[in-house]
Amino acid sequence: MKEIIKKAEVLIEALPYIKSFYGKTFVIKYGGAAQLKQELKDAFARDVVLLNYIGIHPVVVHGGGPKISEVMEKMGKKPAFVQGQRVTDKETIDIVEMVLGGLINKEIVSLMNAHGGKAVGLSGKDGGLFKGKRKFLQLSSEKGKGKKIDLGLVGEVTHVDTHILLSLEKEGFIPVISPIGISQEGETLNINADSVASFIASSMKAEKLILLTDVPGVKDKKDRIIPTLTKQHIKKLIKDGTIAGGMLPKVQACLQSLEGGVSKTHIIDGRVPHCLLLEIFTKSGIGTEILT
Ligand code: ADP
Ligand code: MG
Repeated sequence: MKEIIKKAEVLIEALPYIKSFYGKTFVIKYGGAAQLKQELKDAFARDVVLLNYIGIHPVVVHGGGPKISEVMEKMGKKPAFVQGQRVTDKETIDIVEMVLGGLINKEIVSLMNAHGGKAVGLSGKDGGLFKGKRKFLQLSSEKGKGKKIDLGLVGEVTHVDTHILLSLEKEGFIPVISPIGISQEGETLNINADSVASFIASSMKAEKLILLTDVPGVKDKKDRIIPTLTKQHIKKLIKDGTIAGGMLPKVQACLQSLEGGVSKTHIIDGRVPHCLLLEIFTKSGIGTEILT
């Protein structure tokens, strides 16, 4: 009996959160690490479907870096990165679009649908969801300051049209978005998924932006997780090189979406089963939250 009552208590702890998040949009970046094990994929898909059934509107933006690199290597191409962002030539963008927009996107969609959700896969091209332009990378370290690097068919978002998302949301569909955009000139662009998620979160005036990753949160110089971060603190950590690599686009995505009107952003460990529910519906939460 005690066990059963405990379960009711868990639900009751969630009640204030369920109330305040009812009808709100959450943008969730589903990262590489949480996409590796079947158990984690299932837990993620179930969590998102659950959010949807209790009246939250989840919008999922996914990455898929490890899979792209795996397929590239099978095809005899060597993946290259600068500051956590993929260098993308013409051949690479085809592989990126096939793997992200095809394989990975449909796998997530079908898993959510198998768990009773109504998920729909999109890229930036569908319904004119987002457009982009080529992006040159500004080196962030002290040494490389001012230097710009050409990453090829790598873009940044210039424009989001939320029409398709609002239509899907109204009908109870869960949008699952691959970070592939198109330029004014019709070039297909590979865009960092963290950055796409942040633009979509701002444009949708989302309540939250949640980024799943492969570490427990943002770490300090001594490898300890920082539970709460602000803009000033982040700037310092970037400057002294504590935040680097793939964590850079993540904290930048958080800052950008906060400026765009998102209430709260979170960087959490995608390797923890049900990390989403733990972060959203418990007092303590997990990972790092970033506030203005
Ligand atoms: P994802 O697939 O989630 O986008 P990335 O590899 O792109 O993963 O980004 C996460 C990585 O960022 C971590 O695995 C870690 O190696 C790196 N990183 C750099 N600086 C930090 C930091 N200060 N705290 C945590 N992780 C960091
Ligand atoms: Mg990344």
